[in-house]
Amino acid sequence: MADAARANLLDFDRDGMRDFFAGLGEKPWRADQVMKWIYHRLENNFEAMTDLGKSLREKLPEVALVAPPRALLDKASSDGTRKWLLGMDAGNAVETVYIPEPTRGTLCVSSQIGCGLNCTFCSTGTQGFNRNLAASEIIGQVWHAAKQLGNVTHQQRRITNVVMMGMGEPLLNFDNVVKAMSLMRDDLGFGLASKRVTLSTAGVVPMIDKLGEVADVSLAVSLHAPNDELRTQLVPLNKRWGIAELLDACARYAARKPRATITFEYTLMKGVNDTPALAKQLVKLMRRLPGKVNLIPFNPFPGTQYERSDETVIRDFQTVLLNAGVQTMVRRTRGGDIDAACGQLKGKVADRTRRHADFQRRVEAARASEVQADAA
Ligand code: SAH
Repeated sequence: MADAARANLLDFDRDGMRDFFAGLGEKPWRADQVMKWIYHRLENNFEAMTDLGKSLREKLPEVALVAPPRALLDKASSDGTRKWLLGMDAGNAVETVYIPEPTRGTLCVSSQIGCGLNCTFCSTGTQGFNRNLAASEIIGQVWHAAKQLGNVTHQQRRITNVVMMGMGEPLLNFDNVVKAMSLMRDDLGFGLASKRVTLSTAGVVPMIDKLGEVADVSLAVSLHAPNDELRTQLVPLNKRWGIAELLDACARYAARKPRATITFEYTLMKGVNDTPALAKQLVKLMRRLPGKVNLIPFNPFPGTQYERSDETVIRDFQTVLLNAGVQTMVRRTRGGDIDAACGQLKGKVADRTRRHADFQRRVEAARASEVQADAA
């Protein structure tokens, strides 16, 4: 039977799975059994699910499949970081990155093909936007990585944390992201603790409140500037919801989820947002709610106008925050040699916004004027 007519079981959370099996005249525990095969044993072949009973094992392939995305590329960095380019449909692919550290393994997952937000310092933004990923395409990234890494048992997990920090704005693909995150956390799914699943947003304020109502995950907010004038230049979404509104939403989230951590991401760009005066403004903002700051040295990509701040400037910025009692980390760049660092993910986007073509034109024009200046 054609794939389109069969349900991809990766699209169902626990309730959805039970409904699907009820539709087949099966008891809820059958759905639970299949979930364990899929997410604990990383099995996608119904034939191998030996405890299901022969008639169900024969019926399932006719109505369902477990179809994770296919890897088009698999790259390993010298520092152990791994990046997969995963094909989603004929014209599109997204990137998923695994970052091993001594005490944890973090998987960075994409939520959309491209991104519509156009943050000026992010490579994904220059790629334009195509569409939201389905829940199966989001949890499928975790499934694929887990299978590749041999994440088989709960005792020896390779993936201990998932961050929705890949391509796209997760809060603009709300339902599918929430469903996929529930599978990351469900004991019948990947069974991760709520604080080990983090959603990162550029600040879609109403959706932060909605997230607080339906999910229990950690929150990361891409702040990047401590005042509205500067933030609007870097994150155009700030025109819609300014810093005050954003921080109020974060405070409501923190009040509702005392166990969740809230992290403010701040990408440091040379001469743009890295002065001690701005660090002091940031300290004032941080007094308003419990949260920590994650400083990300800017990662360059072809055609960008920005540069990474100098190491001493990064240290000084961090020191201002630490001296004021704000917990502040510098996120060390990983996987730079395979373009797997923050803001470098590009995937393959059949751009429907023409933004990529505009970006290319601007880059070409800038190059042409440099050549002219050199010649003059
Ligand atoms: N749209 C969401 C998810 C993307 S997360 C969000 O904005 O939070 C990716 C993180 O990397 C964000 O904090 C983003 O602002 C940051 N980032 C983007 N481009 C970067 C770059 N070139 N260098 C360093 N960090 C970057």
